[in-house]
Amino acid sequence: MDSSFKIAVIPGDGIGKEVIPEGLRVLDRAGELFGITLEYQHIEWASCDYYLQTGKMMPDDWKAQLADVDAIYFGAVGWPETVPDHISLWGSLLKFRREFDQYINLRPARLFDGVPCPLAGRAAGDIDMLIVRENTEGEYTAVGGTMFEGTEREVVMQQSVFTRHGTDRVLRFAFEQARQRARKHVTVATKSNGVAVSMPWWDGRAAEMAQQFPEVAWDKQHIDALCARFVLQPQRFDVVVASNLFGDIISDLGPACTGTLGLAPSANLNPERRFPSLFEPVHGSAPDIYGKNIANPIGAIWSGALMLDFLGEGEGAGRRAHDAILVAIQKVLKDGPRTGDLGGKASTTEMGQAIAAALEAQA
Ligand code: ATP
Ligand code: MG
Repeated sequence: MDSSFKIAVIPGDGIGKEVIPEGLRVLDRAGELFGITLEYQHIEWASCDYYLQTGKMMPDDWKAQLADVDAIYFGAVGWPETVPDHISLWGSLLKFRREFDQYINLRPARLFDGVPCPLAGRAAGDIDMLIVRENTEGEYTAVGGTMFEGTEREVVMQQSVFTRHGTDRVLRFAFEQARQRARKHVTVATKSNGVAVSMPWWDGRAAEMAQQFPEVAWDKQHIDALCARFVLQPQRFDVVVASNLFGDIISDLGPACTGTLGLAPSANLNPERRFPSLFEPVHGSAPDIYGKNIANPIGAIWSGALMLDFLGEGEGAGRRAHDAILVAIQKVLKDGPRTGDLGGKASTTEMGQAIAAALEAQA
């Protein structure tokens, strides 16, 4: 692996500014231990502060400024009290997603020791899934319209758009991920008994893709039954792949089944690396707790680990650094210290320091 990478660091808003420094603390330590050089480009735009000063979320030349970075390490964006979400979100994150063709949204969900699980009777290890959401097409289009508006005859239509290219590439990614995991299983979330054109077609694309991965077992499940099983039998899932809308729903449900929002990481990937991929915690800017140094930094730290794994192409130093960071996270979740969301009193900084120390201890 080429072990030198340039990372754009964008803390964004609210607790993004508190958790990203802890992520960098752990990334720096991982870099030292595993021989990975990370060069940071610190960026203050893509934040509501920047918007309030300039009237824009990002400078006009944002794309040029990010031209040579390998990845974007992102905190959170949004401050609804001063800037409406449609401006902050559409003006930053969603622009990255679209312009950088980040067609995979990846969210691992794991249940760890020391984290209260909202599902009764579950132990650490029972939940260990990887949710793969299609991020660019499907149900999220602006194609449609209204007829007879404002009358009793009003009709609203909205199209879903699935392309063979877009569907095959997300399916391929999911099967490739499963091939690297212990259980080697893919569940395809569709709804072919209700959405009678596009979803049977999705099932067919999945069956065809599966033929290229004989070592990976797979099944297809209707999204409604799948949601029930996430809650009742979460141990049944390994890799789960879904369209944009279904993926949006289950990528909130999955992490919710494992406890706190503060733990959940995510990646928006352009797997071919034609453009930078983006790594960010699932949580938002959390105005209710910002400024107190009490946010849980694990979602950000885990996202940083995903970034190293991706940059290292899932092998070598990047994979080892990722795995070691996860061991450190597991140790701190089990033994403490803990932030408030986990029932403790530790600060964001103390959590970050403890995880960095637990990482160091493995050297
Ligand atoms: P968004 O619109 O970006 O999803 P939101 O305000 O809906 O933002 P969050 O900002 O994620 O959602 O916050 C939801 C709740 O979870 C808040 O009460 C927040 O305090 C809590 N929360 C979010 N992230 C963390 C964290 N890292 N540590 C502790 N609590 C958190
Ligand atoms: Mg929200």
